Amino acid sequence: MADLSTDVNSSTATAKPMSDKAVIGRLWRDYIWPQKKRLLTAIFFMIVLALATAAYGFVVKYIIDTATALENNVGAFEKTRAYAYAVIPVLIGITFLSGASNYIQRVLTNSVALNAIATLQKHMFARVHGADYDLFVRSPSGHLISRFTHDVTALSNALIRTLSNLIKDAATLVFLGIGMLILDWQLTLFILILYPIAAWPVIKISKRLRGDAKATQAHTGTLTSELKDSFTSARLVKTYGLEDIEQKRLGKSFDERIRLFLKLVSQQARVDPILEVFGGLAIAGVIIFGVYQVSSGHASPGDIAGVLTQLLVASPRIRALGTLNNVIQEGLAASERIFEMIDMRPVITDPPTPQTPTEIKGHIRFDDVSFIYPGGEQGARNLTLEALPGQMIALVGPSGAGKTTIMNLLSRLYDIDGGRITLDNIEITALRLKDLRDAFALVSQDVSLFQDTVAANIGLGRVGASRDDIIKAAKAADAHGFISALPHSYDTVLEEGGETLSGGQKQRLSIARALLRDAPVLLLDEATSALDGESEGRIQTALSRLQKGRTTIVIAHRLETIRAADNIYVLDKGEIVESGTHASLIKKKNGLYKRLAKSLLE
Ligand code: ADP
Repeated sequence: MADLSTDVNSSTATAKPMSDKAVIGRLWRDYIWPQKKRLLTAIFFMIVLALATAAYGFVVKYIIDTATALENNVGAFEKTRAYAYAVIPVLIGITFLSGASNYIQRVLTNSVALNAIATLQKHMFARVHGADYDLFVRSPSGHLISRFTHDVTALSNALIRTLSNLIKDAATLVFLGIGMLILDWQLTLFILILYPIAAWPVIKISKRLRGDAKATQAHTGTLTSELKDSFTSARLVKTYGLEDIEQKRLGKSFDERIRLFLKLVSQQARVDPILEVFGGLAIAGVIIFGVYQVSSGHASPGDIAGVLTQLLVASPRIRALGTLNNVIQEGLAASERIFEMIDMRPVITDPPTPQTPTEIKGHIRFDDVSFIYPGGEQGARNLTLEALPGQMIALVGPSGAGKTTIMNLLSRLYDIDGGRITLDNIEITALRLKDLRDAFALVSQDVSLFQDTVAANIGLGRVGASRDDIIKAAKAADAHGFISALPHSYDTVLEEGGETLSGGQKQRLSIARALLRDAPVLLLDEATSALDGESEGRIQTALSRLQKGRTTIVIAHRLETIRAADNIYVLDKGEIVESGTHASLIKKKNGLYKRLAKSLLE
């Protein structure tokens, strides 16, 4: 299945890959910087937090030095003891300051990131709905949804971590470093040389880890599709008795997964011990150098303890910065896909100077219409057909003959490649998309129901319909009875897809919706699966009420419907092969219609 990026490219005018710099620039300019007040306040508190954190080393130094003085009885004992206690309010002040600013900066950075994400999601959603219908047909809905879930989460993590780590941790490290230099610059330089050496094996492992993680992820993807294939082929597997073969095939995949995971875990498990050992060795080195500094009179024990404290405070922040790159890379890849979606521009658009007819009567003509789907399938070939206002024309033909395509072209879900389609003698491309689509009501065999109340589901037929209108439509569609019997009547919230309703009930809801819409043209896709006699009868009654006074184009599967049509178009491979009334077509020897009608009668 093609992934979204190729789908998007085919239906948009803009499809240039963005550089990382461009992606970051756009995020910053359009989504982050507009919240500058919040952002700058967050940065202020980050700096306060960084300063407070860098002060701990000095507190430790103070405590150690006064304690040493106390022990050695340097100066007046009482006075020194008072000095030692004086550190307590300072310490409390620092913890309070760092706690409060940490809280404020965290809430603010998260809200900046989440606000940015919410705006992005709204932009994405608007674009997706504004996109050509083709996008929905060709990208699996899972791909579209994963932009809103997976990509948005990846970007959100990256934003939050970048805002907090890059600014807060980097500022903290700078202040910690300055503090260390003040406490003992020689020891600090010694550390700056020693630590990168200690970090080297970890960097090596991390690189290998990234490769292993990619391999594991790729395999998870493969396994998912293998599982999906296997389950969706359940019928084949069962009827052909392929269970053993499937189990062996998938078994191999499960084993491979374990192997890859174990490899990954054994690499991951090495990181912490190595860090601990090398970290310990580095600290030992620092202590040796520190003791030398003290004994040679270059520094006080407090200085060394202060530097060590700064070092301990710095390590988790250095580690966080080390893993930041992965998160940023993931976030950038996600943003690129998100922006690609936001940049989608539909190909099917309103004309620059639209015609605005006052009333549409529903006169439809196709003149020599040809159309090839973007994937290359011939959808229509030299089609010519006509429905006068109020007429019913029936489209019949084997599956794949091009019946649905005619409806798709009429409502401009796709634009034709040749010929002309007119509505009331106006070319459909000369109408506003909204005006054009307002002329149609669709009743199809797969009824779209949303997880909302029955009233809201019917109300989708016309924006702003009153409760009375909805009930009137439901009555005319013979749906009022079963709706009233639902636990909360019209306010009953339907399950997703209307799972709890019968096929016939769903059909009647969709008829009510179409009645409410009150459009001049009805596009009817008759159900192929047979309903029980009673439901069928009720639906037919409701449908004939709906059809009254409207032009109807019906993809017909029932002989009664076909017989009642003013004109029948028999389609095959995108072409009209026969047309006429039932009576005239049934007389044709070896005609396709005759064969189709025969199979319907059997
Ligand atoms: P029918 O409604 O008569 O079953 P369709 O109009 O759906 O037939 O299909 C006509 C031809 O166009 C078929 O070959 C079908 O595979 C192809 N087709 C239909 N819809 C699409 C689409 N969205 N993208 C690509 N090809 C399509």
